[in-house]
Amino acid sequence: MMRVSQRALHTCSHATVSTSSSRRTSRRPVCAKATLHGSSGAQDRKTGYLFHELYFWHEPGPWGNLKNYVQPTRHPEHVETKRRLHNLVSVSGLLDQLHVLKPRPATESELLRAHTPDYVHAVQAMSADNSKAVHCVGDESHFMPGGYDLAALAAGGAITAMENVLDGSVRNAYALCRPPGHHAEPGMGGGYCLFNNVAIAALHALEQHQLERVAIVDFDVHHGNGTQAIFAEDPRVLFISVHQAGNYPLFSGDVSEIGQGPGVGTTLNVPLPPGSGRGAYRAVFDRVVAPALDMFGPQLVLVSAGFDASYMDPLGHMMLGSEDYRYFTAALQQHAATSPHCQGRVVAVHEGGYSEQYVPFCGLAVIEQLAGLRTKVQDPYWEDVYNFAYQELQPHQDACIKAAEQNLEALRQAVLRSGRQPGGSSSSSNGNGSIKAKHAAGAAGVLSSSKGAAAGTGAGQAAIHGC
Ligand SMILES: [Zn+2]
Repeated sequence: MMRVSQRALHTCSHATVSTSSSRRTSRRPVCAKATLHGSSGAQDRKTGYLFHELYFWHEPGPWGNLKNYVQPTRHPEHVETKRRLHNLVSVSGLLDQLHVLKPRPATESELLRAHTPDYVHAVQAMSADNSKAVHCVGDESHFMPGGYDLAALAAGGAITAMENVLDGSVRNAYALCRPPGHHAEPGMGGGYCLFNNVAIAALHALEQHQLERVAIVDFDVHHGNGTQAIFAEDPRVLFISVHQAGNYPLFSGDVSEIGQGPGVGTTLNVPLPPGSGRGAYRAVFDRVVAPALDMFGPQLVLVSAGFDASYMDPLGHMMLGSEDYRYFTAALQQHAATSPHCQGRVVAVHEGGYSEQYVPFCGLAVIEQLAGLRTKVQDPYWEDVYNFAYQELQPHQDACIKAAEQNLEALRQAVLRSGRQPGGSSSSSNGNGSIKAKHAAGAAGVLSSSKGAAAGTGAGQAAIHGC
């Protein structure tokens, strides 16, 4: 039974915790320190957690209509997945250990960094139109009158979380934004998304805070087509998407899509076959994500955190469990912590995830990992998903990952075109030095471990912290 008291939570300092794996009855030591990042004083700062009650008020209307033969039902992007995650963060006691951040609305000029004036003004006009109960802009992007204000608050939330990490108020952050954003293209909404929250945060970091290189890692089960479109020609942003091949949008996110013009090489797509699980995803992080981040040397890692690759999701067909999401987070933290370019800067922005039963456990694992804390909440489903057949890397999945690995050479060429050495020193004043060889070795050490939860949490953390 889940404990809800403050005592249910502890840091990983001098503690043992029960695992939530198939070996959940065993107890094993975890890291002695909560220091997740390399920057001075990072251990003294909390993880930022951003949410707003109004995020839960976004309403995309019903799913289906009276001409579809079956009774219309609740929209997949309903509030419960997000509210139940927030509730679990609260009742687990974790919320009390986080630095709660309050969003502000993105300004029109901030939205216009990622979107066209025609599109932003169209959303504004629809939002002001009370003649309809629900408006739609683009493909599957519904919102109620007044929805512009909520969407601007979501985009502003991503900016706020990012800025608090950049200015050192928090060491990393999770933004529970809604509506989601990664399908929103410059001139069109899509896939339940109105404004591209993570892209707007990245552009704010580049143009307001003079960062030179930002990475966006998108593990939502659907391709981040909007983010890709916004940065296709922008070599300042490395966009990596690992997703289910041919899901949504159809015909988007093929491995051959690697950017355009000056941005060739800084887009990496890893489309995986349906049915992919722990082995395939961890191989992607080991063989594509980690070397790409090392090569690119971002100063900030943004995460499009979607949880619809979980085995329970109604809109995805993958087999991930909560500990896999913890593993992804640990891998990204490791890069950010050990890279002198990045100084521990990781900001996760909530995207999709449509299992109201399972999204809370997956999201909690990510936020726990960001905070270096473990509550006593145990994922009651992990044992099942861990033991599913075909969780290990399969040959047809390996072939997809090999195809994506081939594109690392294009990324290397892109880095060289920018006047930097891949994984090496920057010619700019903002470069902050070079990634050391031991970093690459350390990353491989963690990311090549792939034996279930033990690698995803305990062993992964141990490698991160060197304990
Ligand atoms: Zn999705």
